[in-house]
Amino acid sequence: MAKKWVYLFTEGNADMRELLGGKGANLAEMTNIGLPVPQGFTITTEACTQYYEDGREINQEIRGQINEYIAKMEKITGKKFGDKENPLLVSVRSGARASMPGMMDTILNLGLNEDVVDVISKKSNNPRWAWDCYRRFIQMYSDVVMEVGKKYFEELIDKMKDNRGVKQDVELTADDLKELAYQFKDEYKEKVGEPFPDDPKEQLMGAIKAVFRSWDNPRANVYRRDNDIPYSWGTAVNVQSMAFGNMGDDCGTGVAFTRDPATGERGLFGEFLTNAQGEDVVAGVRTPMRISEMEQKFPEAFAQFKDVCQILEKHYRDMQDMEFTVENGKLYMLQTRNGKRTAQAALKIACDLVDEGMRTEEEAVSMIDPRNLDTLLHPQFDVKALKAATPMGKGLGASPGAACGKVVFTADDAVEWANRGEDVILVRLETSPEDITGMKSAQGILTVRGGMTSHAAVVARGMGECCVAGCGDITMDEENKRFKLGGKEYHEGDIISIDGSTGNIYDGVIPTVDAQIAGEFGRIMAWADKFRRLKVRTNADTPRDAKKARELGAEGIGLCRTEHMFFEADRIAAFREMICSDTVEERVEALDKILPYQQGDFKALYEALEGNPVTIRFLDPPLHEFVPTEEADIKKLAEAKGKSVDEIKDIIDGLHEFNPMMGHRGCRLTVAYPEIARMQTKAVIRAAIEVHNEHKDWDLRPEIMIPLVCDVKELKFVKKIVVETADEEIRKANSDIKYEVGTMIEIPRAALTANEIASEADFFCFGTNDLTQMTYGFSRDDAGKFLDAYYDNKIFENDPFSKLDQTGVGKLLEMTIKLGRPVNPSLHIGICGEHGGDPSSVEFCHKIGLDYVSCSPFRVPIARLAAAQASIKEREERKSMEILLSSKSKKEKVLV
Ligand code: ADP
Ligand code: MG
Ligand code: MG
Repeated sequence: MAKKWVYLFTEGNADMRELLGGKGANLAEMTNIGLPVPQGFTITTEACTQYYEDGREINQEIRGQINEYIAKMEKITGKKFGDKENPLLVSVRSGARASMPGMMDTILNLGLNEDVVDVISKKSNNPRWAWDCYRRFIQMYSDVVMEVGKKYFEELIDKMKDNRGVKQDVELTADDLKELAYQFKDEYKEKVGEPFPDDPKEQLMGAIKAVFRSWDNPRANVYRRDNDIPYSWGTAVNVQSMAFGNMGDDCGTGVAFTRDPATGERGLFGEFLTNAQGEDVVAGVRTPMRISEMEQKFPEAFAQFKDVCQILEKHYRDMQDMEFTVENGKLYMLQTRNGKRTAQAALKIACDLVDEGMRTEEEAVSMIDPRNLDTLLHPQFDVKALKAATPMGKGLGASPGAACGKVVFTADDAVEWANRGEDVILVRLETSPEDITGMKSAQGILTVRGGMTSHAAVVARGMGECCVAGCGDITMDEENKRFKLGGKEYHEGDIISIDGSTGNIYDGVIPTVDAQIAGEFGRIMAWADKFRRLKVRTNADTPRDAKKARELGAEGIGLCRTEHMFFEADRIAAFREMICSDTVEERVEALDKILPYQQGDFKALYEALEGNPVTIRFLDPPLHEFVPTEEADIKKLAEAKGKSVDEIKDIIDGLHEFNPMMGHRGCRLTVAYPEIARMQTKAVIRAAIEVHNEHKDWDLRPEIMIPLVCDVKELKFVKKIVVETADEEIRKANSDIKYEVGTMIEIPRAALTANEIASEADFFCFGTNDLTQMTYGFSRDDAGKFLDAYYDNKIFENDPFSKLDQTGVGKLLEMTIKLGRPVNPSLHIGICGEHGGDPSSVEFCHKIGLDYVSCSPFRVPIARLAAAQASIKEREERKSMEILLSSKSKKEKVLV
């Protein structure tokens, strides 16, 4: 039997989103629960994948089924493509498994040609509407299917409005629109070289293909990378009969949320625009009315809509984001989905749903996107400074957060300036999907036009980026890169601050303060901690970072990079003297100067951690990273060492390496200069003894971590030095302090020989930055130069340095655990690369049975939540597996 590529809305349901996409599955679900949905069918995501496999062609089998379903749809709706009595008009809409708002394309009013326009115009006695539909269709079809470019059509519309002396599209008459439609068709013919297609079926195939193709457009690719959506998923295509919001003043179109997507407050939230269609509300062509105003103008449709909202929220047990249209006073539902929301709103909604008895604590924890928490962890404006400042203008607080930066006017500039390390605020009349990379690079976004559901607002909320939208007081001059606000002219590079909660805009810098975990954030995190198995530590080199991380819930330090302690002014001199020594004695003498500093640092770290584990990694980078480059510093070093400047320069030249990442670094330094490890051991142990004496109740047990080991003999050699030194310190102090010696696993050979290494190690910690680098054989500092080409050619979908490569590097991790644990059952294993704070990588770490992840302080809450979600998911999967098995065994029993 042939595969089923097409489903009627009546054949699907909400659980079929993999196949039907989110939009299609929810249209089906709404149909099932009896809501007013214009009927149609969905072409599956598998058909999209097939389209790409067939070299971007829709094959005969799929075409056949599409035609079959057009016939079914014609029967259901009682309308026919191109019919002289009752013509069918449809929308063709993309819809992937995960929602990707505005990333792909939609075409409305498909099925029109001049004959059909005539028919509907006469039948409705509304030629204005008929021609408005046609000109919109030509415009969208040209843009989406033929990629002619919106710009030309917008220009023609603007010209027409100028000629007629009107400001808004709705003021154009039927004749104006008719003329526009003809102009559009001419434009099409000129650009494409063929007349505009009249046959609805030909139009439909073209549109379907275009939606499939839009899966691969650049902005969709960027969006997917940012949101962890695999390219392989593909998009479904929904063909739906039209509901018309543009037939007159008893019509309109709207978008609404069941709760406020910025704050999470209960209550309908949204916008409605009379006599309008599709994207008009979000595109900001006219200022829409608030949803509450709809109540007076459309009492019946509004009452019905309110019911629908309740039904949908109860049904999905989550805040819904809906699109709807009112045609001659009657309501049609066009879309519903779990609404995108700010992190703050996500926390409030999750807690409220638990309090309202709609969700369990586990479900609430699973509802929060960990990546979103990031925004809450970043600085907020200092309340006092904010009070003292006078805003120079105000827009809508469209996406909360505090942003401060230099004004730029184009997305490209935002990217360029940000790459230079500048904080920028992107100021635009309004944003469009092409601006997405620029918006991402900016600290904040400020727009002149558009409401709470405008493109800028929606995308910014999705990205967790601060946004102030629709500040109409701005006089914008995009072309000359300047704007006026509050009596002042601003130019590119001027500093402003924007508050995404209040919508206030300030001149200059407003100072910020650190965020805190309190209120709903605290509640969710407490639940998360109940459900997770994986421990979360932090990468911290200073007591300050360590304290911050503890506040954010870190349960220990997974990585303290000791070399960061050498760079401070008073220590670097001694360290340089050590490097430029000729004899062991000289080196020891220089190291002895550093010892008390390092000991003090460790003591402060142990105190900050209050008995929680602290992993200290011994010196890792190559020595040339520490030598002076400035002539004056070289001279000072020469004087201190009693050498000539040339002699010092010779030593520095001698440290040069061709491939420093694979050079004389890590434990290789200790093999050549054991005295370095001796000094560091003394500092670790002496500090521990001191703190132990003051806090006997703490379970202090420093973990000494040897970096870059590739052979067990290396570890054995270094460990012997560490143990001898440590034991002697402990004996001398008559202490009973315990310590551990472990190693990083960051060279593939260490993973491959983990069984041997485990016999000498108390713990393993995956340094996945180096491990990724060495497994791939390219440097993390240079990958940026070619990764874009790899994305473009679909070789990579992600940067393996930010998202753990589970297939390759992950296999090394699994192998290490499998080889290591049997040899040393008490071996504890963690990860301390950047990946430790990436949610999908955390899930992987949970699955393969790591004991902890360690990440930068600000990612600790993200990791805690991701770890809880991984646990919950595992339990759910196990439960459904058990149900499956038990039902299977019951069946088998029956058979027996
Ligand atoms: P997106 O995924 O970008 O939101 P949609 O497919 O939802 O794109 O469609 C874009 C706009 O067109 C939405 O405002 C939607 O409500 C409107 N629209 C889509 N299909 C229809 C239809 N059958 N009748 C009326 N309006 C429609
Ligand atoms: Mg939509
Ligand atoms: Mg490393």
